[in-house]
Amino acid sequence: METSLKEKLWSWEELEETLKDRYEDPDIISVRLAFDYASEAHAGKKRYTGAPYIIHPTATAIRLAQMQLPLAVVIAGLLHDVPEDTDRTIEDVEAEFGADIAKIVSGVTKLGKVKYRGIERYAENLRKMFLAMAADVRVVFVKFADRLHNVETLFAMPEAKRSRVAKEVLEIYAPIASRLGMGDMKGRLEDNAFKYAFPKEYKEAVSLLDQNVQVREGDIDKTIDKAKTILESDGVKIEQVKGRRKFVFSFWRKLKRYHGDLSKIYDIVAIRVVVKDVADCYAVLGTLHSHWPPLKGRIKDYIAQPKPNGYQSLHTTVFDETCGIVEFQIRTHEMHEQAEYGVAAHWNYKQEGSEKKLNTMPWMNDLVDIHKEISAGEDFLSHLEEVKLDMFQDRIFVLTPEGDVIDLPEYSTPVDFAYAIHTEVGNQTVNAHVNDQAVPLDTILKSGDMVSITTNKSRKGPNPEWLKFVKTNQAQTKIRAATKSKVKQWIETMSRKK
Ligand code: MN
Repeated sequence: METSLKEKLWSWEELEETLKDRYEDPDIISVRLAFDYASEAHAGKKRYTGAPYIIHPTATAIRLAQMQLPLAVVIAGLLHDVPEDTDRTIEDVEAEFGADIAKIVSGVTKLGKVKYRGIERYAENLRKMFLAMAADVRVVFVKFADRLHNVETLFAMPEAKRSRVAKEVLEIYAPIASRLGMGDMKGRLEDNAFKYAFPKEYKEAVSLLDQNVQVREGDIDKTIDKAKTILESDGVKIEQVKGRRKFVFSFWRKLKRYHGDLSKIYDIVAIRVVVKDVADCYAVLGTLHSHWPPLKGRIKDYIAQPKPNGYQSLHTTVFDETCGIVEFQIRTHEMHEQAEYGVAAHWNYKQEGSEKKLNTMPWMNDLVDIHKEISAGEDFLSHLEEVKLDMFQDRIFVLTPEGDVIDLPEYSTPVDFAYAIHTEVGNQTVNAHVNDQAVPLDTILKSGDMVSITTNKSRKGPNPEWLKFVKTNQAQTKIRAATKSKVKQWIETMSRKK
């Protein structure tokens, strides 16, 4: 069924239109040069969808142009697969388009080598992303646009590959987009990936969301009209009032958080009010509240206290007779750009050269810190916490001497690690080394630790004392199984454990 879907064939004309629409007086000739160069380089090659290869870099460049990134980034988007997939080298690209564009392209090529092989490659992927980001965040924008197009056209991929790519997007790309405040990118990446990573849940979520939106959309339009009238009669200047529908994956996540109670989700459809300045934001809030009673505890001032990723807006939930409970999100145009594009908004082509502004951005400091820590050899994995992954919270990632990553619950010990590798390794553990230091077997491991276990084949079995400190069910079960006969020790251990 889905393989009959045809992908959209993005063309030069659409790219040109986007440029004319989003940029003042863009240098179309330079972009066209890159388009022709990429077209020639990829000539005759097809995508896995069967479409000509150039469709993909074109789609990537269009996305970057929609984000109004500097034309160098758009051009790099057109060229991003040239060194990897054609006989032109990065040196050729540099000779033709200069060192700056070649630097972005080569960053994307390096990042592209990452392949998702389950959770064990997770840390490696993140590390590469952070490194790329710290070196040049423009590389990450191209990579996101590249990945978004790939995930949008996943239908034509073999099924096994689909879910791998989809999970990689959910576990690595989307959380980073979120961290960088790129709400639009995050939402699109997640919704496209959700479909293939969890098809059953996706269908459920879409149908629930559709039902709800259908019920509400008519009412929302009435409420929007009412809001406009109220605001205008109060003399509050507004630039735009619009309904926005929640992304599917974000809706699903929230539904899970509320244990499936749909009535607790007030922002399935929300009303967005865009105004000129901060004073107008508060004026809108005041006017809305004087006509509609706000729900207790639902007024959020993200202007005074922005979210860690830079998001700013005023949120309030009010009660309207026709529409019922509805959420308003009030923001300036700049806040809106920040909410949609995050870090990328600061790279808007209009701000090129405004170094001062860039350096005062909080995210810039984050990147500088990450960069410093990486160059100082400090533990990049500590940043995992900031990435705030629902799925992997309370997990740590430790390495085997071969460089494979094992994920364990927090507070795990070398014995948990040993059992995670193999029951035999666990049962025969005698010593452990963490980062080349001999350590006691009950040492608490941290993300990024390199753990090696010394085993002794003649060892009779695990020590029931280990039950006092192991964290994983796996280790507990195996230790119990192997020491079952030692009833006395067992009872002793269990009573002490309590
Ligand atoms: Mn690509």
